[in-house]
Amino acid sequence: MRIVFIGPPGAGKGTQAERLVARYQLAHLSTGEMLRVACEAKTAVGIKADKYMNGGQLVPDELIIEVIRERLGQPDCKIGYLLDGFPRTIAQGEALDSMLDEWHSPLSVVLELHVPEEELLKRLAARGREDDRPEVIRLRLESYRSQTEPLLEYYDAKGLLRRLDGSGTVDDVFSQARAVLDSLVTSGSNRSHR
Ligand code: AMP
Repeated sequence: MRIVFIGPPGAGKGTQAERLVARYQLAHLSTGEMLRVACEAKTAVGIKADKYMNGGQLVPDELIIEVIRERLGQPDCKIGYLLDGFPRTIAQGEALDSMLDEWHSPLSVVLELHVPEEELLKRLAARGREDDRPEVIRLRLESYRSQTEPLLEYYDAKGLLRRLDGSGTVDDVFSQARAVLDSLVTSGSNRSHR
């Protein structure tokens, strides 16, 4: 299966992503994590990304698209993958589509993890990561609303979007996700995608 996982900061996407990749044996492609590693290692990508990340801004599309193009070409992605944090803009979504067209490997599904804004603010305040300072949180939520949310409509129009209610417990959200993914497996609609 090839899955895109979309959700605002603080929705619990990372936790669900970890459980999903373990259960369905998928490569876990978290662009946030890749960028944090690159920053830490002071690679060329990391040096460019650092100031955007610390300012609560998205890194430029060209930069992250190249990172993902390279990553998707690696052998472990052949078994299927979960994209966690990419795409985050329409331009990234279009770039992903053209890569996947080129490779004849369409997406199986796009999962949206939906959590009301009030709940997000509460959860983010409790987390304490470097880019979770209150003013940075506000910017990250704004960039989600203005740049990432339009992707939901984009994927809905393609018939790929499934929404999960992220306000429940971790187990509750995970069982919703499993219901969606298991139904894809049993309908066999992902067979041609592997
Ligand atoms: P995350 O861990 O997914 O919240 O990502 C942390 C930060 O990495 C984001 O606030 C962005 O600055 C950057 N980032 C991660 N993924 C992307 C992406 N697809 N496009 C642009 N910036 C990204």
